[in-house]
Amino acid sequence: MEETDCLFCKIVAGEIPAEVVHSTERTVAFRDLNPQAPTHVLVVPKAHFANAAELAAGDPVASAELVTAAAAVAAAEGREDYRLVYNTGADAGQSVFHTHLHLLAGRSFGWPPG
Ligand code: 5GP
Ligand code: ZN
Repeated sequence: MEETDCLFCKIVAGEIPAEVVHSTERTVAFRDLNPQAPTHVLVVPKAHFANAAELAAGDPVASAELVTAAAAVAAAEGREDYRLVYNTGADAGQSVFHTHLHLLAGRSFGWPPG
């Protein structure tokens, strides 16, 4: 289900290097290249879905696995408090159109987000 020219499909396939910190049957978690917090990890489905809603509709098990994988990474890094973010659409800040759950932790976060 690899999509041509999709950055995160290439990371999942090992064609582009990334610091992978966790993987499950359906997910891979790797550190963000431009971290916005001491812990900033992206959790992605191995299969290509453009956004969180498409993933939830197309593979609800993988959708749930993203959240449990993020929680496992947070626990492994000793982070009790963390923020999970899905950006959907360019105006919301999505720049890579292979859905990814941002796990951010290790500092305080403001609300509402910018
Ligand atoms: P978005 O803006 O789509 O919600 O998040 C995309 C994220 O991917 C950004 O936080 C960005 O720093 C990260 N990113 C972009 N290119 C790469 C890359 O090649 N490797 C890794 N590890 N992260 C990347
Ligand atoms: Zn992809």
